[in-house]
Amino acid sequence: MIITPRPALAPLTTLRLGGYALAEIRLDRPEDCGRLPEALAAAGGLPCVLGGGSNLLIHDGALPITVLRPLFGAKDAEPEVLGEEESDGIRRVLFRAGAGMPMPRLLAWCAKKGLSGLEGLIGVPGRLGGAVAMNAGAYGCSTAPLLRSLSVYTPEKGLHTLLPEGWSARYRHFSLTEPCAWYMSVSAVLSLAVDTPEAVHGRMRENFLHKKAGQPVHEHTAGCVFQNPEGQSAGRLLDAAGMKGKRRGALYFSPMHANFLVHDTRCGVPGLCSDALMLIAEAKRAVSDMFGVALQLEVKEWPPCPS
Ligand SMILES: Cc1cc2nc3c(=O)[nH]c(=O)nc-3n(C[C@H](O)[C@H](O)[C@H](O)COP(=O)(O)OP(=O)(O)OC[C@H]3O[C@@H](n4cnc5c(N)ncnc54)[C@H](O)[C@@H]3O)c2cc1C
Repeated sequence: MIITPRPALAPLTTLRLGGYALAEIRLDRPEDCGRLPEALAAAGGLPCVLGGGSNLLIHDGALPITVLRPLFGAKDAEPEVLGEEESDGIRRVLFRAGAGMPMPRLLAWCAKKGLSGLEGLIGVPGRLGGAVAMNAGAYGCSTAPLLRSLSVYTPEKGLHTLLPEGWSARYRHFSLTEPCAWYMSVSAVLSLAVDTPEAVHGRMRENFLHKKAGQPVHEHTAGCVFQNPEGQSAGRLLDAAGMKGKRRGALYFSPMHANFLVHDTRCGVPGLCSDALMLIAEAKRAVSDMFGVALQLEVKEWPPCPS
């Protein structure tokens, strides 16, 4: 376990925004969890679990939070294959990966092994723990249906393993069914269908080309700012409400896809979360006035806002 006081948070996020936390607690091995209560008591503040920082909107200034960085499996070359199962006549492989494993590395392994299910997540940055916590998905796939068990740490019960009845998931939402102040995923067992490496690689390539053509994948963003309202596209609503290209300081809504807020780190103006929050408020107002739709944030704000 490595504890760093007053870490700068912007470099830990893909949007490159945010101030300072009280402390950063970096966990490399599940055994480090045993020392967490003591470390958190010493650091103070609200514990916030960081994955790859690709879905975060972190406020400016000195923040009353302590960041936990679970890097379990971050350096593992490969997940651990546990065996096979068959469901609905489909052969599937079960494997365990650490919550800190970067998703691009996991997807590369799936392509090499010919394991199918996560192809929609090509081009999605972040780590496995973040993908589970967000029930990340695209192109018809999402993480939760592939999850067979999840090892977590909670302040109430310490380290323990959950089966599917232990969580509840829906579109971009994942929570534990047991009462807990917060949780940190440590590792996950996933089940993917057996296919050929060529077929899996082909679908990933197709999805990535599609994504690259319509999203600012090479800019500093946090992915989609808003969730899609039931049956609608937040991007289309924002576009129709005139938000494409709208700018404040170093932040603007992408002219390529109105649901992506871009941080222009080369414009010479410091990037401020307050500018992002003002643009977000303006976008919500514009869509509500024009369509009567209340957009909900997909990105997670830190410090978390009471919902
Ligand atoms: C270019 C780009 C494209 C994207 N495309 C997509 C897309 O197609 N589909 C999609 O769903 N998302 C997309 N995203 C958003 C983002 O990549 C996903 O939500 C991703 O799964 C977040 O993972 P992360 O590790 O970066 O999580 P973070 O951003 O670090 O954290 C997100 C949330 O997960 C929690 N969390 C992280 N790790 C853990 C853990 N170990 N235990 C408990 N909680 C944890 C955090 O506390 C926070 O609430 C995109 C983002 C970018 C920048």
